[in-house]
Amino acid sequence: MARNTTRRHLTAARKGRPARLKSGKAQAAADAEAALGDVPQWTKAEVEEAFRRFAAANPHPRGELQSINPFTLLVAVVLSAQATDAGVNRATPALFKLADTPEKMVKLGEPRVRALIKTIGLYRTKAKNLIALSKKLVAEHGGKVPHDRAALEALPGVGRKTANVVLNTAFGEPVIAVDTHVFRVANRTGLAPGKTPLDVETKLMQVVPERYLLHAHHWLILHGRYVCLARRPLCEKCLIADLCKWPGKTVLSSPV
Ligand code: SF4
Repeated sequence: MARNTTRRHLTAARKGRPARLKSGKAQAAADAEAALGDVPQWTKAEVEEAFRRFAAANPHPRGELQSINPFTLLVAVVLSAQATDAGVNRATPALFKLADTPEKMVKLGEPRVRALIKTIGLYRTKAKNLIALSKKLVAEHGGKVPHDRAALEALPGVGRKTANVVLNTAFGEPVIAVDTHVFRVANRTGLAPGKTPLDVETKLMQVVPERYLLHAHHWLILHGRYVCLARRPLCEKCLIADLCKWPGKTVLSSPV
């Protein structure tokens, strides 16, 4: 039933008629359709236009996790798994004051690290991982964060997404970390549909023009966090509403 409803809206969107899906249930159905790959994909010209607008609106996008060096960035990203950036930012100033290097983190010890981050979800596991990864950085990388994907992913608590954030933000690599916001935006809009974060990342790396790759990660995260919200996206304020193929969108044109 939901699939049929969404199909009618897909057809309407394709024919340029106003989209009327507004209820949370209908938008969830539209998300399910997008996840199945039923949303039309963007043309090369549409991708170019979307990133031209993102770049014009925010030429130097920045991540919102606070850090003071590559090590503290790595720590902040590890802490941000299944937690909000704001929550992480509330806890990290006290932690970084005592431990802004792997050596200091090891010296601080797991019980104190645990106490300092106890407001963040999964803090016990995260404290354990922070000590283990700091020990590994000291033992195998001279206390430095490695500029290398395989070495980063070999650290406790570090997966592909975290490695991508560090490679992009600390080392200026043109890679895209796919978090929940990027995954949603890529699937909903038709920019880079995919069933898994890796599918979406691979697709994004294929379709995003090279000159926009460095900042694409931040533009898409910020768009998902503040405009293309999971529930009730702010389509009326969306820069790319006219390009978006999501049948659940509530406007068909972008604000001037
Ligand atoms: S129009 Fe914009 S805010 Fe609305 S669903 Fe599409 S990308 Fe998201």
